Amino acid sequence: MHLRIAPGQTRVDLAAYNPDDTGAVTKEAAGAELKELQSEMAVLQEKLYAQSRYALLVVLQGMDTSGKDGAIKHVFDEVNPMGVRVANFKAPTAEELAHDYLWRVHRQVPPKGYIGIFNRSHYEDVLVVRVESLVPQSVWEARYAQINAFERLLAETGTKVLKFFLHISKAEQKKRLEDRLADPAKHWKFSAGDLPVRARWDDYMAAYSDALARCSTAEAPWFVVPANKKWYRNLVITRTILEALRELPLKFPEPEPGLEKIVIPD
Ligand code: AMP
Ligand code: MG
Repeated sequence: MHLRIAPGQTRVDLAAYNPDDTGAVTKEAAGAELKELQSEMAVLQEKLYAQSRYALLVVLQGMDTSGKDGAIKHVFDEVNPMGVRVANFKAPTAEELAHDYLWRVHRQVPPKGYIGIFNRSHYEDVLVVRVESLVPQSVWEARYAQINAFERLLAETGTKVLKFFLHISKAEQKKRLEDRLADPAKHWKFSAGDLPVRARWDDYMAAYSDALARCSTAEAPWFVVPANKKWYRNLVITRTILEALRELPLKFPEPEPGLEKIVIPD
């Protein structure tokens, strides 16, 4: 099963993706590979930053407890925080609602040289907004094409876009929500408001399927990340980001001319 949704694929059947999948990798091997990849990511990120020509935008989507926060913490462990920007998207404010839905998103797109991480994103505008009927169908239907056009703009102006759906099972979410209830240090992550969302699991999966099928493009592909095992989730995301960074023509900028003649005075 290809984790990357092919552009032009008209249907995505999420039930066909096993959230328990670990790609025949052991946890130990995954840990070792992750460490190596993270070192390489740190080197490439330094070039990305120094060159200031390209940016990378990583979009993380998934149900509550799917591991968006955990992925941010573990995948970007080794990169220089100076070059990373995280944006969290919550329910829009009155000011945000007074603008088009991409307004708040576009201003969080990473500048050249940076890695931007979206913890939720403009996809909420075709997920929660669709499931909860916050706008009429004609309005959210138009958004898939708008989102594709927006992401093409980003790609054509130097921002590599990678989108990850963290795929957990409903049973795994139950366990994780129970853990949050049982552990006082995790109470802050629990919201009773997550339960009505869980109750509409199938509607969310249908909305995700459509978003993945309609918005996985060559410029901005979607990846389905098996996420029941946190260590495999982290490995898949890290591998994918590295493949993308390796493809960019990253190099340190040309030095100022004449550096070899410069003597630093005492
Ligand atoms: P969390 O990520 O758990 O802090 O929750 C953020 C909440 O904001 C989630 O329930 C999202 O569904 C919600 N949210 C994010 N973007 C939007 C949006 N565009 N419209 C409505 N709700 C949103
Ligand atoms: Mg939450």
